[in-house]
Amino acid sequence: MLLPFEIHARDPGSRARAGKLGTAHGPVLTPVFMAVGTRATVTGLDPFDLAQLGAPVVLGNTYHLMLRPGAEAFRRVGGIHRFMGYSGPVLTDSGGYQIFSLADDRTLSEEGAMFRSYVDGRRLLLSPERSIEIQTAIGSDIMMVLDECIDSTSSSAATRAAMERTHRWALRSLRARENPAQALFAIVQGGLLPDLRRASAAFLTAHPFDGFAIGGLAVGDTRAEREDVTSASAELLPDARPRYLMGVGTPPDLLHAMLAGVDMFDCVLPTHLAWQGTAFTSTGRVKLTRGSCASADVPLDANCGCNTCQRFSRAYLNHLFKCSEPLGPRLVSLHNLHHYFTLMREARAAILAGTFAAYARAKLDAIDRHEHSGRRLGPATTSLDGREPG
Ligand SMILES: [Zn+2]
Repeated sequence: MLLPFEIHARDPGSRARAGKLGTAHGPVLTPVFMAVGTRATVTGLDPFDLAQLGAPVVLGNTYHLMLRPGAEAFRRVGGIHRFMGYSGPVLTDSGGYQIFSLADDRTLSEEGAMFRSYVDGRRLLLSPERSIEIQTAIGSDIMMVLDECIDSTSSSAATRAAMERTHRWALRSLRARENPAQALFAIVQGGLLPDLRRASAAFLTAHPFDGFAIGGLAVGDTRAEREDVTSASAELLPDARPRYLMGVGTPPDLLHAMLAGVDMFDCVLPTHLAWQGTAFTSTGRVKLTRGSCASADVPLDANCGCNTCQRFSRAYLNHLFKCSEPLGPRLVSLHNLHHYFTLMREARAAILAGTFAAYARAKLDAIDRHEHSGRRLGPATTSLDGREPG
């Protein structure tokens, strides 16, 4: 049986839709932003924080979790939920992206990827079957197939070869699946080439995956390229199944993808930038380590209802970062995630009200205006790929 997915409303002015996923650890309202918790933790936050924030899903990573604590540790305690003391839905990425972006000494074959563990130097194989076996031990609610990730600027021959291998690996993953209560999503590849994206979607959607992801973006592409591929790919995916855009996620990226009918998102930006002292606010990004914040006895974001903005000033946050106090990144992580979850809640409400196209347009205009005015003060954006670097 496929993962239950129902659509509650469609926006009349765009392809956006609002729905609900039924996972083994509770329902997830869509569109949804998933907090990245690579190593079975959203860095600096505990499950109580996540509950307070209303975090709908935590995203773990097979590559890191297979190295530490290892699949056996999850088998011993009965899975990631008990291990990390968290009872909500978990999605695990297959490790494909990390194998290609991080792993030392990697050799790739049809069988899978051999690489050297950064924990103890052992040579390990991550194959489609092994990835499913580890994700089964982790006990995630949604598993991802192992895919071959390449730079989106690779040659068309290399992009095609990686896509075709991703398809063969997807079918091996489907055959290797052990627990039907764990959903399995396929990943559409094909780089920036429309013909290949079409071929990839046609191949994968002919098989009984619970959902379909758009992969291979935020790896060297421009925002315009990302939007074109996302929009064209989302249209090729079945209406009745959830669509997941992997690792792409500035607020404008999310708004564009929701307009195109994407339901699920994850991105390291809100948490990763928080650890560097950068906050997303209603008036653009704020770099809290800047000297101008040192005397700013004002909330981080006057329009934000989060605990950080209600209780602490920019001056205090600046002080915490200057002293390398861990409370600084923690408070900004709480704020940034609150900012993202609020955007998603507003988006869902606008889709239900049939006003999403106008909402998204107004939001995008406001962000463009703020990011543009922010340039006078220095770079408003940080260059960073969205899929978790590790
Ligand atoms: Zn806030």
